[in-house]
Amino acid sequence: MITDVGGKKVLVRVDFNVPLDSEFKITDDTRIRKALPTIKTLLDKGAAVILMSHLGRPQKKLNDDGSINVKKFSLGHLVEHLKGATGAEVKFANDCIGEEAFDKAHSLQAGEILLLENTRFHKGESKGDDEMAAKLAKLADIYINDAFGTAHRAHASTATVAKYFKPANRSLGLLMESEIQNAKKVLNSPKRPATAILGGAKVSDKIQLIERLIDFVNVIIIGGGMSYTFTKAQGGEIGDSLCEDDYQDLALKLLKKAEDQGVDIILPVDNVIADSFSNEAERKTVKSEEIPANWMGLDIGEKSIEKFSKVIKDSKTILWNGPVGVFEFENFAKGTQSIARATADATALGAFSMIGGGDSVAAITQAGLEDEVSFVSTGGGAMLEFLEGKKLPGIKAIESQEYVESADN
Ligand code: AMP
Repeated sequence: MITDVGGKKVLVRVDFNVPLDSEFKITDDTRIRKALPTIKTLLDKGAAVILMSHLGRPQKKLNDDGSINVKKFSLGHLVEHLKGATGAEVKFANDCIGEEAFDKAHSLQAGEILLLENTRFHKGESKGDDEMAAKLAKLADIYINDAFGTAHRAHASTATVAKYFKPANRSLGLLMESEIQNAKKVLNSPKRPATAILGGAKVSDKIQLIERLIDFVNVIIIGGGMSYTFTKAQGGEIGDSLCEDDYQDLALKLLKKAEDQGVDIILPVDNVIADSFSNEAERKTVKSEEIPANWMGLDIGEKSIEKFSKVIKDSKTILWNGPVGVFEFENFAKGTQSIARATADATALGAFSMIGGGDSVAAITQAGLEDEVSFVSTGGGAMLEFLEGKKLPGIKAIESQEYVESADN
């Protein structure tokens, strides 16, 4: 990260897309905490720090008259919290571009923060609009992107804006650097055996990742909703469990590809099934390929827990993305909690473990084991795309040599 910032204005794209309750209080400030190293370093080095972020999807939830629901999606709700977290003076601009933002940015003093209003209040943000990006660039001398969670989006504030700063005046932030460094530990010559644990609802979301993982891990454990498509494709009875019928052929191809390359794909051998999608549903444990009609698998069973845990504990590199059951329901959370426990145990034995994706992060936090794994990624989609080998627009924009002169930067 650029740290020669004394007396400079630094525009930082952060991911402050935090959950708020009905009174607009922050219910989980992880994303703010993760951005603090960058913010504090810049403040300590004498910069005036201008922060921008999106919050929610305001363009998808407009007021009845078509206007933006400012009350619901305002970053103004974060000002007091940010003051407490940074100990700095925090000013706020009611629009991320325009006269007010420009004036407040230019009068901002070293050691102070200016928080800009939600970038997604402008339609141009998600379109990667040049005009919006150029206006954002006028606010500062240096641009830093520290929003890993949105690095896979080619938006005005995450990607387009970068080209209006000279390559020497733009860089990744500390969180971004650490996300990339840790993902590379998994991607490039991981300590073996390397195991990936994939869960979550859909195979379709993770097909590309599975294909790519086959090239560099030794074992892929598949659990959660996505496992039933594989079980059905192999001829099993899965009742009313989640299934993407269109992906059965692909599931078989992946199993074949893995076999050809000597990679073990391990599926659950038993499942906790329910007679409805509810925490209070009747439940029992059956073999994975014998789920009766009108029942659905909502968690992995004891035998699967035992089998998966053993593989995880014998691993030296672990990548975990997605819960292996409906962990939001207490009665179906045991499988996911056990994966969290096994991952923490393996880490204590010297493995490198990385947890990526919103739900697995929530699961590891729920299990109270966040500090017992090697790295918890802030990026769901971004981490998946990075691991799939895609160049993320937010990173590419910083690393490219493209420069458009327009904002004296
Ligand atoms: P994803 O966003 O694809 O990682 O999916 C996470 C979601 O998958 C969580 O909300 C889980 O409740 C859900 N999930 C995991 N296992 C199952 C299952 N067996 N049946 C239905 N949903 C599941």
